[in-house]
Amino acid sequence: MGDHRILILGGTTEARQLAGLLAGRADLDVTLSLAGRTTSPLVQPVPTRVGGFGGAEGLALYLKSEGIDLLIDATHPFAARISANAALAAGSAGVAGVALCRPPWLRAEGDRWLPVESVQQAIQALGPFPRRVFLAVGRQEAHHANAAPIHRYLVRSVDAVEPPLTVPDVCYIRKTGPFHLEDEIRLLQDERIDSIIAKNSGGDATYAKIHAARNLGLTVLMVERPPASGLMSFQSVEAVLRHIDHVLPPLMKRGV
Ligand code: NAP
Repeated sequence: MGDHRILILGGTTEARQLAGLLAGRADLDVTLSLAGRTTSPLVQPVPTRVGGFGGAEGLALYLKSEGIDLLIDATHPFAARISANAALAAGSAGVAGVALCRPPWLRAEGDRWLPVESVQQAIQALGPFPRRVFLAVGRQEAHHANAAPIHRYLVRSVDAVEPPLTVPDVCYIRKTGPFHLEDEIRLLQDERIDSIIAKNSGGDATYAKIHAARNLGLTVLMVERPPASGLMSFQSVEAVLRHIDHVLPPLMKRGV
């Protein structure tokens, strides 16, 4: 077992990449934590624990009882609750904590984005006339579409939407990225989509729909990110790796 114990809160490509790069290091003992949302999660490169901790208090207890030296919140930018808990728990347990958060997508020339604060607001913003909507916000928030049954929805998610939507005109696609521009253009054209609802997740894997929307002149109702948790944040796996080497030896010497 390594000298320094790291807990990565994951559920993202970056968390898995970071875990993979730390897995071979003899000086580190790395655990990856998953919420347990996906039915067939990918094989992970380090030991994994699954399920919630029981709020910020539960996470703080875990950090102390497991002797964690560094907490890395590498959860999805829209996973606001666990990120807030991570900041609180690191503070109350006196454990160093950082966040790994990919940068958001930026509007490019030709993009027709309508920024909204939530999926709920995006559904409202579709307006009173029937639209053909590509809903690509993940399984957990798709149900907001039930509030506007007048529209047709094409819902894409990794796992099945359960319970199914109550709207009369809906079609589901279960697929995991990365997605490619030509396929996204074809999908949007075949389905005669006129509006896209997306979260500003950032990253390459799901950007093709945004690029395709730009090429086709379609409106994207772009759900903006929730506020960051307040932990010191890095935008890349490499930046976190540099930080680990910088911070862990001094932390251990101080016995923090
Ligand atoms: P959330 O609303 O912020 O978290 C809800 C609760 O789930 C947390 O309070 C925590 O339970 C538990 N939890 C979340 N992430 C966890 C983790 N990595 N390890 C252990 N427990 C965790 O999160 P969410 O939006 O439901 O996302 C759940 C997971 O899916 C996250 O790991 C995230 O990285 C991933 N994900 C989310 C999205 C998205 O759009 N939200 C997209 C892709 C992937 P306790 O309070 O009991 O500890």
